[in-house]
This record gives sequence, structure tokens and C-alpha cells, in this order.
Amino acid sequence: MTNKNLAPASLAAQAMGWVDPVTKAVVPPIHMASTYLRDEDNGYRSGRIYARADNPTFDQAEATLSALEGGAGALIFSSGMSAATACFLALAPGDHVVVPKVMYWSLRNWLATFATQWGLKVEFVDADRTDAIAAAVKPGATKLVWIETPANPTWCVTDIAAAADIAHKAGALLAVDSTVATPVLTRPIEHGADIVMHSATKYLNGHSDLIAGALVTARTDEHWTKLRMIRAQLGTILGQTEAWLLMRGMRTLYPRVDWACRSAQKMAERFAAHPMIEEVLYPGLSSFTGHAVSKKQMAGGFGGMLSVRIKGGERAAIATAARVELWKRATSLGGVESLIEHRASIEGPGTPCPTDLLRLSVGCEDGNDLYEDLDQALKRAHNA
Ligand SMILES: *Cc1c(COP(=O)(O)O)cnc(C)c1O
Repeated sequence: MTNKNLAPASLAAQAMGWVDPVTKAVVPPIHMASTYLRDEDNGYRSGRIYARADNPTFDQAEATLSALEGGAGALIFSSGMSAATACFLALAPGDHVVVPKVMYWSLRNWLATFATQWGLKVEFVDADRTDAIAAAVKPGATKLVWIETPANPTWCVTDIAAAADIAHKAGALLAVDSTVATPVLTRPIEHGADIVMHSATKYLNGHSDLIAGALVTARTDEHWTKLRMIRAQLGTILGQTEAWLLMRGMRTLYPRVDWACRSAQKMAERFAAHPMIEEVLYPGLSSFTGHAVSKKQMAGGFGGMLSVRIKGGERAAIATAARVELWKRATSLGGVESLIEHRASIEGPGTPCPTDLLRLSVGCEDGNDLYEDLDQALKRAHNA
């Protein structure tokens, strides 16, 4: 059977079916070398010179991720932030970019500070409204439209196909932060995206034990070469051991995401009827604003991330988070262990995040255990 006929879940589970030709090992090795032997005639026919550009340990993870996303090429980075910022650094000072108001907080801060000081003209829009994106793009001047869907921490949804259409008509590229959707649920390139970005720290690795990022592109063109060059020049490469761990984590991506989605969907429905909860934010609820668009561009589930707004405001939300026993009070998402976070506290002043909001990353524990733990915390906080 060729890889071509296999479903993404099969490709992921077997890391593209790699077997070492010499030892027959079914798991690739970690290449520790930082430098490579030059040929006697002064050439570098192996294609490898120095490990700040790349490392053979990356190959399997990059090839697998590219296949899962239906892309032409993938680049893994030292973090999600270094992958995301490379997309903006590949532009030139003076270029106009359209980005969401609701998005991953650290990247939003970088865009408002470093990127703006460096000379990018950064325009923040309500990206869940495609008419707002259309009104913001300036044909010729806009070089990149950036979206995140579902977007942290309220999970508002952007129509990828509509955003791609708007971007392309203006002569811009569309990049999608697909960290939360993962290729299991959404393949943005199939909807017209040019670049897919992941914080591989989250679902791709899935075990909360490394920091990594990735870009997948629809084409391995000049732009891709530039992204690769930025990674080599800034040295934002992933360590080889982390690259190996990332590949190992990706092998179980499909069952982990599938489990988390089913658990999150049930939990969202149950919490929607909970007397101490004001509102549940989850793309899988039919009452959710972005539900119809999510149905169109997410297949097999609506993700493992949801947020709950607690009756009684900020104090009640923090008091609830203080009383969980099974959930772990921590930032980050997409690991096998479930996390709960009072998101406004970590984002700080200026955040658009409601102060009564608890962000939930549903992991691989039993869904009923998770529900009951948060339920007891809500009740104890309410009675305190
Ligand atoms: C965590 C995260 C990032 C940043 O990734 P790091 O790996 O922490 O650098 C970007 N986007 C989203 C949606 C994230 O959750």
C-alpha cells in the first residue's frame, strides 16, 4: 500500500511508515550532529552543512505534518511564537497586515509592539465578521491576512474560505493559526489558506513536555524559502530531542483529539444547563454564534477547548478554579491532562477576555470525572 491511499490517522500513527533501511528500526533516530562532512571536491552533496538550518531529525515530523495538513512543505520551529513571527518578518517594513482583535495574547502583544515598531502597519479587526476583514484589506498594500480559528479564549470562528477569497483578491496571503482545530478537524489549505501555523507545544505534541511551533505552506515557493531562511538566520530551530518527541506525540494526535472533542462536546452541553454557569462558549453548541461556519470547516468534532462564564463574576470564577482537584490550574492547552485557567488574569490589562471566564482544555481523562470535579468546585465556590 502506498501512503497516498492512507487516511491521515494511519500516516500519523506510523510516522509515514518510516523504517530504518539499515537496522529496520521502526522509530527514527535522534541526530545529534551540529555539522556535516564536506565532500573532497568541496561540495555539500548531502544537502546538509550546519544544523542551524535544519537537522535530519526534523524530516519525519515535517513530512508527517505536511501530509496531515495537505500542504507542500512544513517547517518546525523552536516555538509557536517563532513560527508565527517568521510569517510577519518575511514581510517588509511599510507592509499592511490585517489581524484579529481576539487572538492568542502573546502574538497580539508582539504585533502591537515589536511588529509595529519595526514598521508593519498592523490593523486589528473583528475577524469573526468577514465584512470587517473585507473592509480592512487594502488591495496592493495588504500583504498578509492572519486569522485564528477557533480563536483564544472565546473560540469565535472565522470563515477560512471567505477570508482566503478576500485576501487573494487584494493580493495578500492568508495565514491561519490552526493550533486549536488541528489537522484532525480542519485542513485550512483545503479552504484556500496559504500558510497554516501551529503551536506544536499544544495538540501536535500533546503531552505538555516541550515548546515547539510549525508552519505548513500550500506551496514550496520563494516565500517558503524565505521562511526557511528566516528560521536559519534567527536560529529559531527546534532542538533535535524536542523534534523527536514532537514526532512521537503526533503519532497519537488523532485518537487524542477525537477523545477530547467527544468529551468537550458532552461537557459543553451539560454545563450549558448548569445553574452556576452564565454561558458556555464552544463551537459545537448550536446556540454558538460561529456554529454554522464551524460545521462547514470542522469535521469530526469541534475541538477540545471551551470556556465557561461563571455566575458571580471574576471572584466566583477564581474561587471555582481554586477548588478543582482533578483539573490542573495552569496555562497552555492541548495536553493529555485537562487544564483550567482564569484567562483574564494571565492576559492582564487591556485584554478583551471577559473576567468571569474560565478557559478549559479538555484532555484524555474520563469526561464524567472532569464534569464532576468542576461541578463540585462550582458548588463549593458558590457556598463559600
Ligand atoms: C500557545 C499558542 C501560541 C504560541 O505558541 P508557543 O508554542 O507557546 O510559542 C500561538 N497560538 C495559539 C493559538 C496558542 O495556543
